[in-house]
Amino acid sequence: MPKAQETVLEIDLKALHHNFKYLKSKLQPNTKFLAVVKAFAYGSDAYEVANYLQKLGVDYFAVAYINEGVELRKSGITKPILVLHPLAVNFKKLIEFALEPSLYNAKILNEFISIASAEKQINYPVHIKFNTGLNRLGFWENDVDYVVSKVKATKTINVKSLFSHLAASEDLNERDFTLKQINNFKIIAEHFKTKIGYMPILHMSNTSGVLNYPEAHFDMIRSGIGLYGFGNSEKESTYLKPISSLKTVISQIHKIEKGESVGYNRAYKSDGSFTKTATLPLGHADGIGRHYGNGKGFVTIHGQKAPIIGNVCMDMIMVDVTNIDCKEGDEVIVFGEHSTAENLAETANTLSYELITSISQRVKRVFLKEDT
Ligand SMILES: *Cc1c(COP(=O)(O)O)cnc(C)c1O
Repeated sequence: MPKAQETVLEIDLKALHHNFKYLKSKLQPNTKFLAVVKAFAYGSDAYEVANYLQKLGVDYFAVAYINEGVELRKSGITKPILVLHPLAVNFKKLIEFALEPSLYNAKILNEFISIASAEKQINYPVHIKFNTGLNRLGFWENDVDYVVSKVKATKTINVKSLFSHLAASEDLNERDFTLKQINNFKIIAEHFKTKIGYMPILHMSNTSGVLNYPEAHFDMIRSGIGLYGFGNSEKESTYLKPISSLKTVISQIHKIEKGESVGYNRAYKSDGSFTKTATLPLGHADGIGRHYGNGKGFVTIHGQKAPIIGNVCMDMIMVDVTNIDCKEGDEVIVFGEHSTAENLAETANTLSYELITSISQRVKRVFLKEDT
């Protein structure tokens, strides 16, 4: 990779391949792999990532919203795509692009049956979501009879899978709660099977479920963050490789003398000692939020940490390079393989998930592909 000359998000598909293999190594050979590529594949690039994973033999994709699935279909993704949080207003589109809805309550189930039958669909694949403790989306355990009666009363839909979502799979202090969720899901699945006469595909594990709860793998797992290189624990993250590196350059260097300030609202004021700052071409409009300002977040220049000083601007940040030998045009690493997005996110008390999905579409994506 040549040195960055502007703000770029480098996406390393070799690292993606590594993560996919690592996560697969945790599964039984016949457990299916669903890759979660919502939110532009966690802020990277949904098409490039999905296309690559499709070639690697992933079984399923998931997105959050219907329009995300439509974009994948338009760019040529052919594997099944589960839409985790579809809204009825877009159901015709969902059907037109052969996306598969998660149906999570009576309202959305009935709306889907009604639109799909108006569209003359038969046995349209749907996924029934059950709530086992996250209390976000999903039918409750005592809704099984209702759901089965609705499914049996129509030829329009076919239940391809039953699924649930773990609330705290990354937190081993919540092990008892998680085991209760898993057990509850098994009871729901058995009840469903007894009533409907067949067993759909079962799935409930996100990345941390894959890593921490083999008993929750069932027939398929749903992994997002692990594919992008983070394991929600220091240990697991060492086995994974972040696929994205955010890089930029130094636009300008300033020497700040006693009494001067830096940036909006004069948030940084020189304490009298000499300060050297570098101005960088990325700001909160690129995804580096204001919470990283005023000494919290940092970037890396020639292997050395340079803290962000003053307030984060829309298009720029200023960093302290007093003790770094650097010049205008030099490369800056915001996050990457060594100083990771997880490390940077921690400085602002947030998660890798939030930081990487925030990198805005203004930032150019470049891809490192395999030589083969
Ligand atoms: C986002 C999401 C996932 C992926 O979770 P990771 O922790 O990123 O692996 C899995 N299942 C559902 C329902 C999700 O919303």
